[in-house]
Amino acid sequence: MTSVIAHEMGHCIGFRHTDYMDRSYSCGGSTANEGASTVGAILIPGTPVGADPNSWMLACLSATTDRPFNANDRTALDYLY
Ligand SMILES: [Zn+2]
Repeated sequence: MTSVIAHEMGHCIGFRHTDYMDRSYSCGGSTANEGASTVGAILIPGTPVGADPNSWMLACLSATTDRPFNANDRTALDYLY
C-alpha cells in the first residue's frame, strides 16, 4: 500500500512512469509505449534513459511489491525538489 500511495503522489508532483517508453518492462505483455501524452517526457539529468529496475515510478507492481526510492529515484527527487 505504501508503494502505491508513494507512486500516485509521484504523479501528483510531476513524475511519469519510469518505463513509459515500454510499460511491458514492469507490466509484462507486449510492448506498450505510453507516448508523449499532453505533457511530454523530460529526462532528468543523472537518471537512466531506459527503464529503471525497482524504481518507485514503474508502471505496474504486484500486490506484494515494496518499492522504496532507489538511487536514481533520489537523484530525480533531488533534481526537481
Ligand atoms: Zn502510475
